[in-house]
Amino acid sequence: MLLVSEPALGIDEKEALVAAIDSGWITMGDRVREFEQTFARMHDAEDSVAVGSCTAALHLILHALGVGPGDEVLVPSLTFVATANAVLYVGARPVFVDVQSGTVPLMSAADALRKCTSRTKAVILMHFGGYLADREEWQAFARSKGLLLIEDAAHAPGVKGVGTFGDAAAFSFYGNKNMTTAEGGAIITRHRILNDMIKRARSHGMTTNTRQRLVSRSPEYDVTLLGFNYRMDELRAAVGLVQLRKLTGWNDTRRHLSLHYRRRLAERCPSVLVPFNASWVSAHHLMPVLLPAASARQPLIEHLSKRGVQTTIHYPPVHRLTFYQDQYPGISLPNTEDFCGRELTLPLHPAMTPADVDHVADSLADGLRATCPAEVEQA
Ligand SMILES: *Cc1c(COP(=O)(O)O)cnc(C)c1O
Repeated sequence: MLLVSEPALGIDEKEALVAAIDSGWITMGDRVREFEQTFARMHDAEDSVAVGSCTAALHLILHALGVGPGDEVLVPSLTFVATANAVLYVGARPVFVDVQSGTVPLMSAADALRKCTSRTKAVILMHFGGYLADREEWQAFARSKGLLLIEDAAHAPGVKGVGTFGDAAAFSFYGNKNMTTAEGGAIITRHRILNDMIKRARSHGMTTNTRQRLVSRSPEYDVTLLGFNYRMDELRAAVGLVQLRKLTGWNDTRRHLSLHYRRRLAERCPSVLVPFNASWVSAHHLMPVLLPAASARQPLIEHLSKRGVQTTIHYPPVHRLTFYQDQYPGISLPNTEDFCGRELTLPLHPAMTPADVDHVADSLADGLRATCPAEVEQA
């Protein structure tokens, strides 16, 4: 089965894990620190904070920026639910913004502008599929409205410019992302004070950690703010350091495979729309396509599955999930709803070959003929 995504783990990661275990120090030690510094350098940032997940990263960012009850935060609905959940964790209200279009399924600045009120405090961008939002446009937007600018960069690690759009950015190293530590995340912020505050809040708000107390031979610590346990451990950092060395190469492979997809799909499935374009700056996290309006997606998914091709959907719109619909009924985001109704995510990961891409494109073309009456008429 050709999977939508697959973690790339091997002997290097195994050796790094063994070394971390043999070291006898398994959490918040030298490996975590080295991982943070290496990750920061890769994104032209001064520092980063490693945490347990991207969800924790988003929560810590909003918490440290003082977003809270009474505040509104602009978020896309075309995202993983964690983006909006983090806003609720701090007691603020997520305000869902539509995407630009089917060809550019990124948060629309025009719709964001319409949804600004006197309570709007921040905006969270999400680089959907790894395709970067417009840096200058959003910086100008945040500046003109006096908003905090946050990136949910879960789909776009290792791309130049990502992580430094605004005040802070959250990354994910979950098992299906471009690089993985099984579970894990990181934060980049341009504000040194915020960086230090987040570092402290990641571990209960304590002024020293276990390692520092060992080295300084002083068991004293204080707690200066409300913190959490959102730490990363040495085993994850060890795997992460190996993955970081490979990330740029993997992102290149993803780009080549994406370009190959674009060419093949244009030849073999002309009725299918591929969002963005070949030159859009991207980490190529996903290979999303838009099916012709008439096609029946579920039979197509089953057809592809029979031919050994797993597909999935990114995403069910957050504002349509039961929990959100109950809390915030009556929201209409036409572009997001149209996109999510027709989107299909094809397999894309660095272990794939161009021949795999050809197989997916051929299977999709067959599937469309078999399941979509309009395609038969065209053929
Ligand atoms: C995966 C993902 C998250 C959550 O990441 P975790 O590390 O699993 O918490 C958040 N936002 C987006 C857009 C994601 O894709």
